[in-house]
This record gives sequence, C-alpha cells and structure tokens, in this order.
Amino acid sequence: MQSLPKKYNFAEIERKWQQKWEEMGIYHFDWNDTRRPAFSIDTPPPYPSGEFHMGNVLNWTYFDIVARYKRMRGFNVLFPQGWDCHGLSIEVQVEKEHEIRKRDAPPDQFRKWCEQLVEKYIALMKEGILKLGCSVDWTTEYRTMDPDYWKRTQLSFILLHRKGYMYQGTHPVNWCPRCETAIADAEVDYEEKAGTLHYIRFPLENSSEYLLIATTRPEFIPACVAVELHPEDARFNKYIGKKIVVPIVNRAVTIIADEAVDPSFGTGVVMICTYGDKEDVKTVIKHKLPVIRLLTENGRINKNGGKYAGLTINQARKTIVEDLAAAGLLEKTEKLPQEVGVCDRCKSHVEILEVKQWFMKTRVLTEQVEKTANEVLWYPDYMKTRLIDWARSLDWDWVISRQRVFATPIPVWYCKNCGELILSEEEWVPIDPKLENPHIDKCPKCGSRQFIPERDVFDTWMDSSITCAVHAGWPDRPDWKRFFPADVHPSGIDIIRTWAYYLMVRHLALFNETPYKSCLINGMVLGSDGRKMSKSLKNYVASPEVLGKYGSDATRQWAAGGGATGSDVPFRWPDVEYGRRFLVKLWNVSAFANKLLQDYAPSETAEFALQPLDKWVLSKAEKLTQKVTEAMENCQFNIAVEEIRNFTWHTLCDCYVEAVKDRLYRPETHGEAKKAAAQHTLYEVLYRVLQLLSPITPHLTEEIYQAMYAPHKGFKSLQLSPWPEFEQALVDEEAERRGDLIIAVIAEVRREKAEKRMPLNVQVKKLTVYVGDRETAEIIREGEGDITGTCKVASLEVLAEKGSGREIAQYPEVHFVAEY
Ligand SMILES: [Zn+2]
Ligand SMILES: [Zn+2]
Repeated sequence: MQSLPKKYNFAEIERKWQQKWEEMGIYHFDWNDTRRPAFSIDTPPPYPSGEFHMGNVLNWTYFDIVARYKRMRGFNVLFPQGWDCHGLSIEVQVEKEHEIRKRDAPPDQFRKWCEQLVEKYIALMKEGILKLGCSVDWTTEYRTMDPDYWKRTQLSFILLHRKGYMYQGTHPVNWCPRCETAIADAEVDYEEKAGTLHYIRFPLENSSEYLLIATTRPEFIPACVAVELHPEDARFNKYIGKKIVVPIVNRAVTIIADEAVDPSFGTGVVMICTYGDKEDVKTVIKHKLPVIRLLTENGRINKNGGKYAGLTINQARKTIVEDLAAAGLLEKTEKLPQEVGVCDRCKSHVEILEVKQWFMKTRVLTEQVEKTANEVLWYPDYMKTRLIDWARSLDWDWVISRQRVFATPIPVWYCKNCGELILSEEEWVPIDPKLENPHIDKCPKCGSRQFIPERDVFDTWMDSSITCAVHAGWPDRPDWKRFFPADVHPSGIDIIRTWAYYLMVRHLALFNETPYKSCLINGMVLGSDGRKMSKSLKNYVASPEVLGKYGSDATRQWAAGGGATGSDVPFRWPDVEYGRRFLVKLWNVSAFANKLLQDYAPSETAEFALQPLDKWVLSKAEKLTQKVTEAMENCQFNIAVEEIRNFTWHTLCDCYVEAVKDRLYRPETHGEAKKAAAQHTLYEVLYRVLQLLSPITPHLTEEIYQAMYAPHKGFKSLQLSPWPEFEQALVDEEAERRGDLIIAVIAEVRREKAEKRMPLNVQVKKLTVYVGDRETAEIIREGEGDITGTCKVASLEVLAEKGSGREIAQYPEVHFVAEY
C-alpha cells in the first residue's frame, strides 16, 4: 500500500488524473463491442460562446455522473461531444471585428473568419469541460460547420422533402430591415424607448359617430385590417360586428371582439395592422383576417402604402401624423415609454414581415409527439407536460430557413426558365448550391440549362436536432440502429420546447421512432440573489473562478447536490466550500486508514472476528449502497451525494473510526484478531464509499484508490471497477440495532466529558451502566472493548437493573454513572 501525502492538493490531483484517464483511453466507446450493452448519451452540442458557464457546469456534471455510473454498471458508454457552430451571433462578432457587413466580404472569406472565431471559442469551452473532468470520448468530437456534418443536415432535409415534410410558404417572421434577414425570437433584444401614443378618430361607417384609437404606430394605418375591443367593455360592445372606416385610406373594416384586449389601455379600442406587433399576428391568425403587406425587406413603405410608398418607416410616421392632424382626426398625443424589440446585432427596430420561407410540417406530428413523449421516461416525470403542452400550443409549422451566411446551405436550386425546384440528390451532399450547380444537364421540366441557387440557409436547430441519429453513426454505419434511440437525452428546462421538441419531430418524421428513451432535465443556475444568473445582473460567477479556487470535485458536489433534478439550482459559494471541506474530511480519514493499514494484507477469503460495531458499519454501508444505487437509477443526484456525505462524515468518521481507534492503536489490549477485524472493516467500507462517490467526485476517489486499493483490487482505474451490487443478505438489522446502542453509550460518555470541559482522553475510573433488561446488558458487554477503549474506561460494570445517573439519548431505560 502506497502512503498518501499528508495534504490534499486538489489542483495537482485533478490535473494528473485528467491527463492519465485520457492516456488510458478508458472513455473510448467500443463500437464493435457486442458483449456489453451500449448506453448512449445525447450530449448537447453547445453553441460556442467562448465561455463554459456555471449553467454548463451543472449540465455537464449531470451527464458525466450518468456516464461514469453507467460504465461502472457494465455499460459500453457513448459520451460524445459536438459543437453547434452556426449562428447569427458569430456573424455579428465577425462583422464587428473586421468592421464590415457580411455582404461586403466574399462569402468564402466571411465563412473563414467565422470558422476561426468559432475555433477560438471551442478551445476555451473545451478547457472548461476538461477541467470539470468530464469523461467525454473525444474521438467522437464533431462540428456542425464541418462539411461532414453539412452532409447529415442536408441529407435529412432531402429525405424529409421526399417524404413531403418540407415546403415553402409565406409566414410572419421577425425581420431586421437593416440586416435584411429573418431572425429568431432568441435574437430579438428588448429596449426601453420613448414613444408617442397618438389618439386617432376612426369614423363608424354611415354614421357621424367615431371611435377613438390610441396607437404608437400610426404609420401602420394603411395596413389596418380590423378594429378590436373587449367583448365585455360596456362602453363599446354595441359596435361589435359593425364596420368602421380606416382614416387616410378610407377603407371599411370590421369591429371584432377579443378577450385579449385590455380595456384600460389607451382607449380600450385597438387597431389590428399587418403587422404592428406580435399581438397582431395572433389576432390575424385567430380571426382569419386578411393580410396587407406594407413594408419592403429593407424597411420602406411599399405600393400598398399608396402616396406614402417609398418612404422609410420614420418618414411615413411623420407624414401620416401630419395628414391626420390636417384632417382633424388626431385628437391628442401623449408621451409613452415603451419596450420595443430590436435586432441584437444592429439594434434596429425589429419588424414583422410575411416572407417566403422554408417550413417543416411539424403540426401533423403533434399526436405522435404526445404519444411518444408519454412513452419516454422523464427525470423528473412532470417535465413531459412541458413538451406536450408546447407541441399542442403551436399555431404554425417550423420556419427552418434563414437569410444568413454562416450556416448550412439548403441544397436546392430553381430552374431559371420555368422555376422548377431541383432538390439535391443524396450523393451530391455536402453541397453549397451557391458555389455548385445541380449535377444534371438540364431542367427535367423545360430543358433549360440555367439554374438559380437557393440563397437561404438552415436555422441552426436544423443542424442540432438530428444528434440522436448522428451520435449513433447515421448514416455511415450500417449498424447505427444498435445505438439508437439514445438512452438519455439531457436537456435544460428552458430548451425543452426547442431542442427536445425539434429532436422529437425530426426523428419521428425521418425514422418513425423516438430519438431518446429518457429525458434528463436540469433547471437553471440562479445567482445568490435568487434570480437567474446573468452577466447583466451582477449576480454572475464565472466557472474558471470556481474551478480554479475549489477544483472540480468540490464544484461537482455543488452541481449534484444543489437541488432536486429539474429544479433551479442557486449558486452559493458556501455550497462549494462545504464540498471542499467534505473532500478534506474524506482525505483525512483515508490518510488515517492508510497509516493504520500498512500492516494489513487485504483478503477476500480470510475470516475475521467481526465485532458488533464492525457488523454495524458494514450493514449500514450495504444500506447506503442500496439508497445510492436507487438514487442514481432515478437520476436523483442530490439524494446520492447527501447520503454518501452523511454516511462518510457521521457514520464512518464520527462514529465508527472514533470507536475503533483504540483497537487499531493498541492491539496488545484488544488482541490482534479484533484489530484485524477493524482493519478489514475500515478497508472495505472506505472502498465502498470511494466507489459510490466516484461518479460524483472522480479525481479524489481515484487518487485514494490508486494508493490504497489498486494493487489488491486490480482495476486499472476505480472507474473500471464494477458498481457494488446491493446484497440484502449483507444487511444485518440486529447488528445495526446492537451497534446503535453501543455508539449511543460512547457518544453520551464523550458528551458528558465535553460538558464537564474535560479532555476526551481523560480516564474514567469506573463506568457503571444501568440497563432495564438482561438482553441490553449483553449488548453493552459485547461492545465492551470499543466502549472502554474509546472512552478510556478503566473498569466497566453493566447492571441489568434500573438505576439513576445520566440518561442516554434515545435510550430512556439506559443510564450511567461515570467516576473520574
Ligand atoms: Zn439588424
Ligand atoms: Zn425548367
């Protein structure tokens, strides 16, 4: 047995094992193994932002605990790692860095710059994953921006197009008029701006009456398609169904009722325009209203704006307000602070435009999504309703096209002559239609030889929502179905509606099969103030600071123990500090055991003269194994870590080790056989703790294992040792009952010494224990050696009779008198 250094140096230990594990190659998935069952983790490919933040730390700790646990359970674990590279934010940063707009640079050059930036960010984030000690199989690493991945995204599109899931159509989308692209909700920022509320008269048709409408966007009046009010607004509901005339354009529209209208805002009457805001989109769809498109893609008024055509939005607003005033239809204006959506790249006001886009038919799958979601195991179970409710709530299909550069191209061309759509063949991908023509001589419909490439590209979710199949080796490995569906799909609570959902619809449509068998949900990391951790809120803690200060094993305990799986986890420094104190405690008890086990020869076959407390702690370790295994099976990492820490700290260190020290130090009093029994028990129980703990704190447990156990146990790494199987036969309730009493006597005597301010090693000349019955007396006599040794008792007398003296906690019938 090698000796352990006195001091626990986490930085050195963690760095050493991270390197050695990689050298050992113990995390490599064996694609050809048919002996062990496979277990595949659908690791999310993170978006390279350059920072592996505390939220990532929480997620990756979860996946890594599962991976390490399953390996010990005998599974061939696939723990892949990819990077979801494409995205608007990378484009924006490249534009800033090079002081250009994307259209000013050749697309190839622009892409190169994006790729370089992504590589820089990946390197930073990878460092975080490595420092956390994640058991990723790096031979599986992939990037969605690589041609090899394009191939997969494009192939899936081709297959889905053939199956009839892909179509083109017009639909309202968030649109930046400056960048001239559709943008996702996630790319819209919100800013407080000073607005003006204009009170405008809308005359009722064939009447001298009018309704007053307050709006911040009078420039949209030419696109007004209805007027809306609350059905129970007694002031106006008599007008529901009647016609009202839109000023300026003199067009009659219908007055409709909707409970979404807030009667206390403005005048309680609102105009619905296509589209002033997102509420308009909802109303238009709900009431099946017509659409008048008013804006061009670069943010000017189009021909539907009549005399205002060609003006910018701001010019149009000014002119229309002047015209309203001149016509006597503008009653008054008021200043109004308002929150407006702006493009996160250029801060321009985001408009809503109906433009031609590519869609995937997702709503037709809703029933199948619901059925499948119910068959999937969810940790925790109630999370499945989030996916189901989301799928049911969708009003429209998934817009999969974007107008960007740094993304996977849509592999489609159009015939220049007849407009026929040419879909790429499977063998042509990866392909960029902007750089290459379709591999055909002429248009199959009209024979023309000229083609126009599709310039739109895919939404990044199109890349990342096929990971379950890609990780399994689709489409290259003929046996990819052996590793599909993924055994576990881990997802943040915030992306169930995107990632878990898109994965589900994509794989159902492609393979008619669920992408994952189970879904492991993590909550959000909250700052110390209880709000979601965010750089803008001053409650932000950077992960390199945490990992640098306390190391991975302590940080992982915070992640595992911070809250129930699926619930939000607050980041608190004291939790990480507690994790570190626990590690020091484990280190110290190991160092103690290491010292006292130097003359111990481990043996599985030898018979030991086990004492009551040995049997007691062995039985409790068996029960701990049962509880931790059950918690791990149910992904209740907080329960697992708490059980292990409580057992180690209290049962093992405070009680057992204290009670057997004397046996270990003074075999001349107790006999070599009893010393050997304590050595054997300490050796095996500590080993059990190390094994149960190793998925959570892999570094320290490995270090102790290698010094104390590797030569005898024989596994190259603790990670390769089989998870201990719980054995009911090893639970000894009677031994626990007896041991509990002996421990209680020892604790009470020590407590009395502490209360009397005596050192714990002060001698008790005589200890008289009064018990109610002979059986109890017998138990205490069995524990005599450990009681007298630990409490320094010169003479112990146990009397099976009621007596006075100090009562032992939880044993009201047992008293003692100690004479010092
Ligand atoms: Zn923009
Ligand atoms: Zn043609």
